[in-house]
Amino acid sequence: MKRVRIEIIGRVQGVGCRPFVWREATSLRLSGWVQNDNQGVTIEVQGDTESIGRFVEILNSASHLPPMMQVSSIRSEPIEVLSDENGFVIRHSDSDDAAEITEVSIDTASCGDCVREMKDPQDFRYRYPFINCTNCGPRYSIVRMVPYDRANTTMAAFAMCPRCSGQYGDPADRRFHAQPVACPACGPKIWLCDSQGKTIESDGDKVIATAARMLREGRILAIKGIGGFHLAVDAFNEQAVERLRQRKHRDDKPFAMMAGGLEVIERYAAIDPAARSLLTSPQTPIVLLDRKPDAARLIAPSVATGTRTLGFMLGYAPLHHLLFAEAGIELLVMTSANLADEPLICKNDEALSKLSGVADAFVMHDREIFRQLDDSVMHIVDGQQAFLRRARGFVPGPILGDEPASKEILACGADLKNTFCLVKGRQFILSEHIGDLEDGLVYRHYTRSIPHLRQLFEVRPQVVACDLHPGYLSTQYARSLGIERIIPIQHHWAHIAAALAEYHFPGQVIGLVADGTGFGTDGAIWGCECLIASLESFRRFGHLRYYPLAGGDLAAKEAIRPLLGLLADDLGEYDWLLGRIEPDATRRKMIAEQIARGVNSVPTSSLGRVFDAVAAMLGLGTANRFEAQLPMALEAAADPDCGDEYPFDLAEDNEQDWLIDLRPMLRVIAADIRGEKDTGRIAAAFHNTLAAAFLALALQARQHFKLDTVALSGGVFCNRLLANRLIRLLKTDGFRVLWKQQVPVNDGGIALGQAAITAVMVRRESR
Ligand code: ZN
Ligand code: ZN
Ligand code: FE
Repeated sequence: MKRVRIEIIGRVQGVGCRPFVWREATSLRLSGWVQNDNQGVTIEVQGDTESIGRFVEILNSASHLPPMMQVSSIRSEPIEVLSDENGFVIRHSDSDDAAEITEVSIDTASCGDCVREMKDPQDFRYRYPFINCTNCGPRYSIVRMVPYDRANTTMAAFAMCPRCSGQYGDPADRRFHAQPVACPACGPKIWLCDSQGKTIESDGDKVIATAARMLREGRILAIKGIGGFHLAVDAFNEQAVERLRQRKHRDDKPFAMMAGGLEVIERYAAIDPAARSLLTSPQTPIVLLDRKPDAARLIAPSVATGTRTLGFMLGYAPLHHLLFAEAGIELLVMTSANLADEPLICKNDEALSKLSGVADAFVMHDREIFRQLDDSVMHIVDGQQAFLRRARGFVPGPILGDEPASKEILACGADLKNTFCLVKGRQFILSEHIGDLEDGLVYRHYTRSIPHLRQLFEVRPQVVACDLHPGYLSTQYARSLGIERIIPIQHHWAHIAAALAEYHFPGQVIGLVADGTGFGTDGAIWGCECLIASLESFRRFGHLRYYPLAGGDLAAKEAIRPLLGLLADDLGEYDWLLGRIEPDATRRKMIAEQIARGVNSVPTSSLGRVFDAVAAMLGLGTANRFEAQLPMALEAAADPDCGDEYPFDLAEDNEQDWLIDLRPMLRVIAADIRGEKDTGRIAAAFHNTLAAAFLALALQARQHFKLDTVALSGGVFCNRLLANRLIRLLKTDGFRVLWKQQVPVNDGGIALGQAAITAVMVRRESR
C-alpha cells in the first residue's frame, strides 16, 4: 500500500481533467481525490504500487489525456497512507480561489469519440448535429455568466432528457458535467430556410441533404456554426465564388476554405509538420499554407488572387462533419458572415435581415450563440506557429504571468485589430479579436464585450492601460470608465512587451518593430523602430529616418502619398514613375505641396507605408482597398529564392538615434524598374534589404548594450518572407529571438503588452 500526492501544472482546468482523473483512478481501484487549485490540479491517490505506477504513467503519456489538456509539469511525492479512505472523489475547489475563474473554457472541435458516435446507427445521437462531451463542443461562445454551469449558458433553454441527465451526472461517463450535453430528443435542432426566413426543411437529415445539393448547384449558403455564421460556396465553382464576392462587396480579400479531411487540403497546399498539428488540433484554426502549383487550376481562382498562400481549416462542428460526408462536398469557401468590416453575425434574426441579399438559403439552429467568435487564423514562421487572428479555440485561455498581479487591470488595446486584456492573479486573459473600432458596430461590440468578459472572470479593474494615442477610440473608452488610474503606453513598447510577457523574459531586450502606425512619444507616427525595452522601461535606440506623410486617413490607403514623402528630396527625377501611379499631375503637385509646406502632413517612420510605396512603384496596385493589400501583393510577388540586396544607410544622428535611410535603395529600385528587371527579384531584394537593415540595427544595439536577445513585433512581421529571413539572419549572428507564438504579432497582441507593463508597474509600487 502506497499514497502519492501529484501536482500537475499546465492547461488542466476546464478541459475535462478531473473527470478523466476520476475515471482512471476508479478503474485502477485507487482511492483518494482530485482538486483544482491556484497552480493547476492536485491529486492524491492510494493503492498498490503497481496501480499507482500505472496511474502516473497514464498522466505522463500525452496520448491518454483529454485532447484539450496540456501538461507543462508533473511532480509526485510519496506521502503518508490514510487508514480510513473509501473510493475516489472529485473535490470542489474553494470558491474564492482565483483558479475557479478558468472554468470557462474554450470552444473545441468535435472529438474523435463524438464523431464516431455520430456515425454509429446504434447510438441515440446518430447523426445529431449538436453531439458533444467533456472533451469537445461549445463553451465560451454559449456562456452568459458565471459560474459556468448549464443554467448560465444558452443551453438553459433545453431541459435535459433522462438519458442525457443520466450521463451528465455520472462521473464514469465521458459526458459527466459536460454543460452543453444534448440529444435529438431534448436538444437543439437545425432547419433550412430561404432568404425570407420561410422554412424549406426541418428534418435534420433532409436539411443536410438539401444544403449539400444547393452547394453542389453553386448556391450560397449561410451556415450557423459555433462562433457565428459562415457564408459557404463550393470552392471549385468559380461562378459561385465570384457571385459571393459580388454580393458580399468584398473586392480581393482572400477567402478561407474548409475541408472534410487533411488529405483534401494536401492536394492543394504543402503541409509541414507544424501546420499539420495546427490544422488537426482541437482549436482547428484557419492555417495559411503555401499553395501547390496545381491549386490555381483546380480551386476557383476568385478564392484568393495574388497570394502564394491559401487559408484552410478542417470542419470542427458536428454539422460540418455531416455536410462533408455528403457526396460532392469536398472543399467549401467558408468566410465569416458579416458586412464589410462589421462584427461577425451570430443571431438568427440578424442573419436574415443582413444577409438576405447575400445567401440563397440559411442553415439555422436554435442553440443561441451568446458571444460571436471569428475563426482563428495562423501561419508558420521559422517552423513555429504564429497568430494572425486569435479568437475561437484559444479565448478565453489565459496566458500565465510569473507572479500574481497586485491589482486587477484592464488593458484596452489598440484601435486596429483590437483585442483587450484583463489581469487577475497570475492570469492575463486576452479577449478574442474584436476588429477595427472605427466601425460603429465594432465599437459597440467592444464596449459590450469588455463588461461581459469582466463579469465572466469577476474582474473589477483598479487600473486601466491604453495606447498613448490620444485620439484612439480605445483611449477615449479608457478615459470614460471613471477609473482614476489610467496608464497610457507607447504602442511599440506594448508590442515588444507582449513578447516579453509571453516568454516570461525578465530583463532588457533589443526590440525590433516593423509596423504600420503607432503614436510616438515625440508626436510622430512611428513604425520601424529599434527599442531597448523591458517591462519596466524602454528607450528608442534607432528607427527609420522620418519622412513626411500627407493626407491623414488617406495616407494609409493611397500609395502615392508615402511615395511622394519618401522621394520628396528629388521628386523631379521620378516623374516618369510617379505618373504611372497617379496620372493626375495636378493632384500629385497638390500632395507634394502639402508635404513641402507641412500642411496636413506628419513625420513618420512607418514601415507599412514603405511597402505601399514600393508595391506601387512595381505596378502591383495603387491603393489598399483592404488593410495591407499592397504589402501582401509585394510579398506574394517576391521570388523567395532570390538573395539580392539593395544598399541602405545606417548612421548615428546626434549620438541619439541610429537612423536607417532607405533612399539609396529606392534610387536603385527605380533604376531597376526602368531597366525592366524582373519584378520578383526587385520585390525579393526589397525584403532582403529590410532584413539586413534590421540586423545592422540589432548588431549596433548589441555592441552598445551587450544584449543578445531580440524580440520581434509589429504587423509588418505578418509578412512571412521578411520574418523568416530576419530570424535566420539574427540566429546566424548568435542572437536569441523571441518570436510570439501565443498572441498575434500585429496589434491583436498590443493589449497583452499593455497589461504586462502595467502589472509590473503596480507591483513595484505596492512593494
Ligand atoms: Zn466529444
Ligand atoms: Zn437528451
Ligand atoms: Fe502596431
